[in-house]
Amino acid sequence: MMRKHENWADPGLLDEVRNYGKFDANACLNCGGCTIVCKLTSDSNTFSPRRDIQYVRAGLKDKLRGSLGPWLCYYCGDCATSCPRQTETGESMMTLRRYLTALYDWTGLSAKFYKSKVWEIGALATIGLAMLASIILYLYPHRLLEFGSLFSLSAVFAVSLVVFIPNILRMFWFTLGRSNPRPPFWLYLTELRTLVLHALSQLQLRKCKEKAFWFKHLFVVYGYGLTLILVILVESFKTYIRPGYHPFEQPGIDPYKLAVIVVLAVLFVFTAILVVDRVKKQEAMHKFSEFSDWLFPIWLSTLVFMLFLAYVSLSLGVKEVGYGIYVIFLVLLSPWALIIVPFGKTPHLLYRPLAVYFHAVKEKATQMELGKEGKTSLEG
Ligand code: SF4
Ligand code: SF4
Repeated sequence: MMRKHENWADPGLLDEVRNYGKFDANACLNCGGCTIVCKLTSDSNTFSPRRDIQYVRAGLKDKLRGSLGPWLCYYCGDCATSCPRQTETGESMMTLRRYLTALYDWTGLSAKFYKSKVWEIGALATIGLAMLASIILYLYPHRLLEFGSLFSLSAVFAVSLVVFIPNILRMFWFTLGRSNPRPPFWLYLTELRTLVLHALSQLQLRKCKEKAFWFKHLFVVYGYGLTLILVILVESFKTYIRPGYHPFEQPGIDPYKLAVIVVLAVLFVFTAILVVDRVKKQEAMHKFSEFSDWLFPIWLSTLVFMLFLAYVSLSLGVKEVGYGIYVIFLVLLSPWALIIVPFGKTPHLLYRPLAVYFHAVKEKATQMELGKEGKTSLEG
């Protein structure tokens, strides 16, 4: 059954979407070339870049909000070569991902930050300066590292509870919660393997022609995940069971410290490669870069480099240098954890595998419904 207002057109949708980046919808001939050439569209045709472009052109906001398509596009750029109007379909999908991220975000802050650099830079500076003032007034140099671990752990929990979980529920509600046919509950359970597989392997990206990007992307995701586990969970746990203790305040090197330093070094190399790729603009996905596209890799590589330097200095016993660099790290970490991670590009890492999962559930539910209808008409 069609929902009330589902097909009402919003004439302002195209302008609204363009607040989030390049979107060349008017040039599109609706020829379908991009959908044919895209390796990520499935046989059942439930993902079609052309369809999402048409939703925007027609002002179908409700349809666009319920679409998983933009998350299934990995911006490989294969479709750009086939488009007779050079509409840069991949970049349009990127713009839609920013738009949807803002729609899912119940706080409204993602929309504010995507649309206004003044707001975003103001928020980043305010939080960074507040952290610097707290360090100068209350912390330096006592229990600085212990505070850093506990701040990181608290930020992860707070951001997950207040921002990520509600926003994921909103994504679910917009895309699957009201879908017809309604998938049975057991389908969500059986398709969980799709979620795990795609979260761990980024398999969609591997289907694109450019395999090197998949490899770099995977290293950044794993490096980031390992850093979170080693630096946040393990350090906080050690500090929790022995108050006043932090592994990097102890002299010498041990296997744990060595592992952290190696992971940080590898993560720095791969995040720096992402920055260089964006500067070179050789791949399709790096041709157009919005502020948020630069912010993520530059901030992350700087953050990782600072932590690497601080930990190496402390391990070598150069304590004053290590503490000084750790202060810079904390000043950069606070806006990263409280602004860039919850309201910037990082939620894309969550939404992508979730979209593949929701998409699989939706496809299976549709196939079951078609099977039922076929059976009924044969019996009739
Ligand atoms: S190939 Fe280009 S013109 Fe054709 S549907 Fe896709 S975006 Fe539109
Ligand atoms: S950029 Fe790649 S993944 Fe995205 S629609 Fe085009 S061909 Fe498909």
